Amino acid sequence: MGNPYDWIARSLDTLHKAHWHRAVQAIDNTGPVITLAGQQLLNFASNDYLGLAGDPRLAAAAIAAVKTYGTSSTGSRLLSGHRPLHQTLEHAIAQLKQTEDALVFSSGYLANLGTIAALVGSKDLILSDQYNHSSLRNGATLSGATITEYRHCDMADLKQKLATQRDRYRRCLLLTDSVFSMDGDLCPLPTLLALAEQYECMVLVDEAHATGVLGKTGAGCVEHWHCTGRSLVQIGTLSKALGSLGGYVAGSAALIDYLRNRAATWIYTTGLSPADAAAALTAIAIVQAEPERRQRLQKNSDYLRQQLADGLGHIAAQHIGVKQLPSCSPIVCLQVQDAATVLHIGKQLKQAGIFAAVVRPPTVPTSRLRFTVMANHTSKQIETLITALTQIEG
Ligand SMILES: *Cc1c(COP(=O)(O)O)cnc(C)c1O
Repeated sequence: MGNPYDWIARSLDTLHKAHWHRAVQAIDNTGPVITLAGQQLLNFASNDYLGLAGDPRLAAAAIAAVKTYGTSSTGSRLLSGHRPLHQTLEHAIAQLKQTEDALVFSSGYLANLGTIAALVGSKDLILSDQYNHSSLRNGATLSGATITEYRHCDMADLKQKLATQRDRYRRCLLLTDSVFSMDGDLCPLPTLLALAEQYECMVLVDEAHATGVLGKTGAGCVEHWHCTGRSLVQIGTLSKALGSLGGYVAGSAALIDYLRNRAATWIYTTGLSPADAAAALTAIAIVQAEPERRQRLQKNSDYLRQQLADGLGHIAAQHIGVKQLPSCSPIVCLQVQDAATVLHIGKQLKQAGIFAAVVRPPTVPTSRLRFTVMANHTSKQIETLITALTQIEG
């Protein structure tokens, strides 16, 4: 008899051979400068866009909530009741998003799984951008709907697929990241919404990397595109610019009431912890009261993109096939020819004191270095990154 678990070691071996194997590194703190195994590094691998994860006001709010409500929400909100904080947080999200209501989940991933599976089923069609986040793709699979992917941000392709397929299904749901998490570009939302109207489709946008980052008041990509108030389902996370943990859905009062009754990943799981809820609530107040953080973030994003474009001639000369991907966000990526090369560059950057994300298949179709800037990076720190990149040896 064979060992039924032997395949796991073989699978790991295959991952190692393809340079796809990954492991976690322990970081001792948060912010633009971090410590990893005693080494100080400039941090270009964090989603803490506004620097709020280390803000003492969030910490104080979390501590106060633990003292008042304890460390756990102690059960499903429907069965065990919720804390007043949960409702206050939901009202604050709805107010930021200018929607009738909102619902918080334990994570953005669970918000996507639960919402998509509640909105469509086996009689329905999902049209999904090919570069959508894993949580959107797995939510689509979980729903049992027919799934068709359209080419990345290609509205002509989407229209053609709607024209040929929409008629055959009951409901149709369009799924898209608003800021694409591994590319940094934006979904052309106004065109997508026009197509949704024409073909009677629901739209779900994932604002994970846009909330607190884009839009005049920090409401996200929907606000950036002047689509506030349109009929759509907005999903997001409390764990990126908002510096906490958890996810949310924002939309009409009917949608939220329906999800409270039908979203399994909300009903059958423990409510968001009091500490996370309080930290997120404080973060939303800061996003609204301190627009200068968003302005500094925008300035840093522009500076990194411009510096990379200027330095790229030199970088590309060293590494054939290095290409800067289009971005309109704090996420800026350099596509690299293969997994082995991107690992090599990542290692050299680390030696030069730079912490950046090395992203490989199957997370993305092509290997890349992914840099994210924060509002509290200095211009000097961004210049240090560029210098390090131009000094990489092939
Ligand atoms: C990070 C992310 C999520 C998941 O959010 P969590 O709260 O971390 O689970 C969902 N969608 C996108 C596009 C993301 O980048």
